[in-house]
Amino acid sequence: MKSIGTVFKVGNGPSSSHSVGPYSAAKFMRKYYPDCDERKVYLRGSLGLTGKGHGTDRSIKTILPDIEVIFDMDTPESELPHPNTMDFYGYKDGKEVHHVRIMSIGGGQLSIEDHPNKEAIEVYPQKSFAEIYDYCQEHYLNLAQFVFEHEDEDINYKLHSRWRTMQAAVEEGLQQKGVLPGGLELERKARHLFNNVSHNESSETAMARLVSAYAFAVAEQNASEEVVVTAPTCGSCGVLPAVLYYAKHNKGFTDDEICEGLAVAGLIGNLIRTNASVSGAECGCQAEIGSACTMAAAALAHMEGLPLDQIEYAAVVALQHFLGLTCDPVNGLVQIPCIERNAVAALRAINSVNLARFLHATRRISLDNVIETMYQTGLDMKEQYKETSNGGLANLYKIDISDVSRE
Ligand code: SF4
Repeated sequence: MKSIGTVFKVGNGPSSSHSVGPYSAAKFMRKYYPDCDERKVYLRGSLGLTGKGHGTDRSIKTILPDIEVIFDMDTPESELPHPNTMDFYGYKDGKEVHHVRIMSIGGGQLSIEDHPNKEAIEVYPQKSFAEIYDYCQEHYLNLAQFVFEHEDEDINYKLHSRWRTMQAAVEEGLQQKGVLPGGLELERKARHLFNNVSHNESSETAMARLVSAYAFAVAEQNASEEVVVTAPTCGSCGVLPAVLYYAKHNKGFTDDEICEGLAVAGLIGNLIRTNASVSGAECGCQAEIGSACTMAAAALAHMEGLPLDQIEYAAVVALQHFLGLTCDPVNGLVQIPCIERNAVAALRAINSVNLARFLHATRRISLDNVIETMYQTGLDMKEQYKETSNGGLANLYKIDISDVSRE
């Protein structure tokens, strides 16, 4: 498996595969193919169908302002190497001088046809949780120690840096008021959730309100195209920070302890993207929100000092009950149902850890089994439920907005 550093990317929302990935693709084109006087890019598959709402054209034009962006809504996915495919063309004196096919494969990662990927360096020989478990048992390591043993020495610095960016997203999101951009006229709710303490509020209600406020804060920043950390994607970027921010400010965990949790979350995200997918366009929302919930549950279980068996149980519970979750963003915007879903998943991560304390000895299903099941379920899912905005809520909840592009 690759470094966990590539699970956590910093970028502008609203979508890791539809804005962070295409932004990196445009940078790649500018760097390696500078020599042309005209450019075109065809956004195909899910990028063609939901790229406008996700701001894909704006992300690419930030780097290549003069490029012509064409939303291809006709090429069927069966004819594409990946549901998020971009075909970049360059011309000089009216003649085509290059064609580069780039796939945005989830979490901001790219796969570039006929081009070696520097992210492809393997740092972990293990590819399954079972192998990691055995290694840790044999060497008396916990999961964070396992990560630090395999990664470069700068990983701790990187994790602290990502954690600072996550905290900034929570804190900035909690300050904001008003309506989110895009035309759905959706009010921001994080600030209201944070401040709206109910009379005689129980500790359970306070926990639910605060964790939700933190998740909404980050997800709303993402929807506003502000800077977030993929965890593992932009659409699901509020889940892990919400759980960790709550752990710091309401449970007293230190930044060092939280960065250990982040290492564990990165390891679990790494397992999922290696053995399945973190792309909504490939496997539905189970791959985004389900993965984020699993990462957050494992992180918290580790921070709370649970043994490996219980960490695995918490991760299993977190992912198992998101199996089959479809991706159906209304109007192609990462707002409905995405923002609320981040809060639901953050609360579920905490509940998964609590359940794991009591029931881990009865576990029948392994984390590797659930990850494989998630992948197979995603492949079996009909195309319209995988980030096309042609199925589910996006199909039944119709709202007439004249301008989702905000240009
Ligand atoms: S529904 Fe889930 S997978 Fe789809 S855009 Fe929203 S958060 Fe991402």
